[in-house]
Amino acid sequence: MKILFDTHTHTIASTHAYSTVLEMAKYAQEAGLEAIAITDHAPAIPDGAHPWHFQNLKALPREIYGVKILYGAEINILDLEGNIDLPEELLAKLDVVNASIHRPCYKDLDAQDHTSAYEKIVQNPVVDIICHSGSPAFKYDYEKIIDLAKKNHKLMEINNHSFFVRKDSIPNCKRIAEICKEKEVGIVVSSDAHITFDLGNYDNALDMLKEISFPEKLIINRNFKSFEDFMNEKGKKLFAWNM
Ligand SMILES: [Zn+2]
Ligand SMILES: [Zn+2]
Repeated sequence: MKILFDTHTHTIASTHAYSTVLEMAKYAQEAGLEAIAITDHAPAIPDGAHPWHFQNLKALPREIYGVKILYGAEINILDLEGNIDLPEELLAKLDVVNASIHRPCYKDLDAQDHTSAYEKIVQNPVVDIICHSGSPAFKYDYEKIIDLAKKNHKLMEINNHSFFVRKDSIPNCKRIAEICKEKEVGIVVSSDAHITFDLGNYDNALDMLKEISFPEKLIINRNFKSFEDFMNEKGKKLFAWNM
């Protein structure tokens, strides 16, 4: 299957990524994508974008080369209390808010159980997607959090990039997908591209989902409309900031 909306991408605003918005849009058009969310790293990560990057996202056109551009962020879960690194009033204006734990800016590295961090995040109204959460270093109660994701209308991410850079996460990613299937919780499949060439590349994630016969209808970003419908059901309007 083809996933037409890539919900997790980075540009040179995070300096460990290498392409501009224009380059990403051009490549997305060539790859046949309908939409991409620009979700650069929030400021707590050492080379994350400055808060002004997010405040000024509305400078970006809503469509470039025929590809819809969604304003987003990948915010950092900072600790077991579920604190985050951008103001909620700002995040509420964005179309796609991805939330992740990243080792360099997470304060509770030594904890054995990270359920309480995810519990706060999954109930935070400004968060849309729980990202690459399969890391064995940040284990949490999958059943409990996925139940809460359903209840709070959040999506769980299966991140293709994890199959290359976080290989020890792969068995947990599969487990998370299996629980989502069992409980009928929506997921997104994303590239987490840090350069154009990775955009729209979900091959490893899709192979894994195929292996467990994951239902297509639960892949909410299979096209832009299915994602927009899901967000509207949640009471969130996309492209709201410019209106
Ligand atoms: Zn990340
Ligand atoms: Zn990312």
